[in-house]
Amino acid sequence: VDDELNLESSSVKSAGASRVESKWSDTKSYSAKKKLQSWFQLPDGNWELGTILSASGAEVVISTSEGKILKVNSDDLLPANPDILDGVDDLMQLSYLSEPSVLYNLQYRYNRDMIYTKAGPVLVAVNPFKKVPLYGNGFIEGYRGKKIDSPHVYAIADTAMREMIRDEVNQSIIISGESGAGKTETAKIAMQYLAALGGGSGIEYEILKTNPILEAFGNAKTLRNDNSSRFGKLIEIHFSETGKISGANIQTFLLEKSRVVQCTEGERSYHIFYQLCRGAPKSLREKLHLRSWDEYKYLSQSSCYAISGVDDAEQFRVVLEALDVVHVSKTDQESVFAMLSAVLWMGNISFTVVDNENHVEPVEDEGLVNVAMLIGCGIMELKLALSTRKMKVRNDIIVQNLTLSQAIDTRDALAKSIYSCLFDWLVEQINKCLAVGKRRTGRSISILDIYGFESFERNSFEQFCINYANERLQQHFNRHLFKLEQEEYIQDGIDWAKVEFEDNQDCLNLFEKKPLGLLSLLDEESTFPNGTDLTFANKLKQHLKSNSCFRGERDNAFSVCHYAGEVIYDTTGFLEKNRDLLHLDSIQLLSSCTCHLPQTFASVMLAQSEKPVGPLHKSGGVDSQKLSVATKFKGQLFQLMHRLENTTPHFIRCIKPNNVQSPGVYDQKLVLQQLRCCGVLEVVRISRSGFPTRMSHQKFARRYGFLLLDHVASQDPLSVSVAILHQFNILPEMYQVGYTKLFFRTGQIGVLEDTRNRT
Ligand code: ATP
Ligand code: MG
Repeated sequence: VDDELNLESSSVKSAGASRVESKWSDTKSYSAKKKLQSWFQLPDGNWELGTILSASGAEVVISTSEGKILKVNSDDLLPANPDILDGVDDLMQLSYLSEPSVLYNLQYRYNRDMIYTKAGPVLVAVNPFKKVPLYGNGFIEGYRGKKIDSPHVYAIADTAMREMIRDEVNQSIIISGESGAGKTETAKIAMQYLAALGGGSGIEYEILKTNPILEAFGNAKTLRNDNSSRFGKLIEIHFSETGKISGANIQTFLLEKSRVVQCTEGERSYHIFYQLCRGAPKSLREKLHLRSWDEYKYLSQSSCYAISGVDDAEQFRVVLEALDVVHVSKTDQESVFAMLSAVLWMGNISFTVVDNENHVEPVEDEGLVNVAMLIGCGIMELKLALSTRKMKVRNDIIVQNLTLSQAIDTRDALAKSIYSCLFDWLVEQINKCLAVGKRRTGRSISILDIYGFESFERNSFEQFCINYANERLQQHFNRHLFKLEQEEYIQDGIDWAKVEFEDNQDCLNLFEKKPLGLLSLLDEESTFPNGTDLTFANKLKQHLKSNSCFRGERDNAFSVCHYAGEVIYDTTGFLEKNRDLLHLDSIQLLSSCTCHLPQTFASVMLAQSEKPVGPLHKSGGVDSQKLSVATKFKGQLFQLMHRLENTTPHFIRCIKPNNVQSPGVYDQKLVLQQLRCCGVLEVVRISRSGFPTRMSHQKFARRYGFLLLDHVASQDPLSVSVAILHQFNILPEMYQVGYTKLFFRTGQIGVLEDTRNRT
């Protein structure tokens, strides 16, 4: 038995290793004697459970659950946990914290619809891809009254709520995971709980109704997820002193606008387009000249229309109702749909060559006519804006005719701009409706649902931005869970073996350093008139080759060593996407429109054009110049991090158990890769070996002092605290007394809190 105990402590001691595996070479012969179970790795990388029959040297004979006898190398073995630990609800309770044990534990629970598991302070949520009986009022009441204590999003939301009130500190719930892992569903479940607890004023209903609107306009079917969010979202819910919801505010990040004009085979554009085509009543269809989806080039190009199990027409009614709830007037709703119809018709505008220099002009067909009608401009003005560009040469304005590809780019840029402005405008309307009253209390819970780390076959500008954001979030996570933890122990004189963790500061420096970082170099190249994706790639290779997180690849490509793995980026399209130009001609067209939305969009775009980053044409083109996309995103990200840093964070890591969006399929390798990416194993190891609960002597004495049965001679907080610890028989190994605080192992405060609440 000693062997086993040694094992456990050695796994704690060897905590510096990046992968957490217990060494157990000495115990193999012991295991053989006792016929202990063990994990062994199959050639395909999966782990299977077997019983050790004998061991000599490096060779171990094992029998599998199917009765096969195998000889395996002892290096491929890891100890399995005893059966009584099957399916524990906190990974911290596992005696052996190896990758296969964690995988097995999550799978064990997943098979029984227990999709939530704690990993120390982090909640792990495995996507069930089916309805699981874990939600609704019964469960909400259960968690609220602490009658249920199994891990749950409700429990996280409940803790956030309590800590917000108890500590008077703003809280955040940070949800991460791959596409399709369940972030958005999890965010909604958290909102549901907060709405139930903080409801009453009616505003909670409005808050919940923002979900169908934002999903309709910002989500789309992709190959990975039928309802994939193509934007990041932070919703900040404000509470009054009495814990009632007083308002909310939504911030969105980096909507993928290229999807409006272009999408991959098998994927769809934004849901709202299909909902409108399917669900609009006859009068609206006629007014907006709506057709069936397959008559629109933007929608038909990816040959994907329906989503199984989703009724777009029905969803359209849900969206209409939600728009009513958040006070978007019927007139405004109609304007919104007119913009959508205009975007769709824009995709149908085609061009013909008008001279032998390949200059083109839009064909005056129903596409062009409908667009002009829907945005409220003249047909001539629209034709000019799509086929010419005004250039400033010295003091003269000359008009340049566009080639076919320039004209198509101009048309698509206009469609994308209209859509993204529309999205932002909607968010603004929602925020007006949810606005926190004058009496701000400074109490809020923010929920962050943001795209997780992405690594595809081909990675472009979008993945570049998304992965950069994830580096920042990972640092926040690291800082919070590891660095701050250690620093606090050291500062308070607590004896605690230092634990190393992967710091990603080097990678962040690679992105952010000025002037020689990825973002600076990208912006610099974007301002050069002759800059191309290739010159950009070459510049990176020239300046960053000595950086340990960077590697030059062939041609247009480069790779970055992210915390979650290496990603190769293809710079094709980087400069254009970063500049995201809309020519002044297009903006002027919008501002001349008789409809109010295009006018509003034009003034927003003009306001954004103050800081130049676009290419400065030698001829002095009258391009709209504005912040580059990457710089704007970085600014948003810094602001986000700043906001999050002033909150107590609660982390939820969503895991996608398979790539086929099916219930009951658990792909070990896929899960393991995600667990490694998000540092779940590290967290457990660190939390288990540390003292995660802490309280100042003063606070502890104040909070529990009244429970003391005997009089304490000295009234100083430390003496009172120690007396409480003695009275409640808290074992010495379960706490440490620091200079300013008491530190407890997980779960120790529970008894005191229960007694306090009962008194
Ligand atoms: P993306 O990054 O692409 O936006 P995501 O992480 O937000 O992905 P979701 O859209 O939340 O993923 O989840 C994908 C799908 O998984 C949902 O549409 C739903 O079918 C299923 N799902 C996720 N969580 C749950 C849950 N708790 N219960 C039932 N089904 C779920
Ligand atoms: Mg989502």
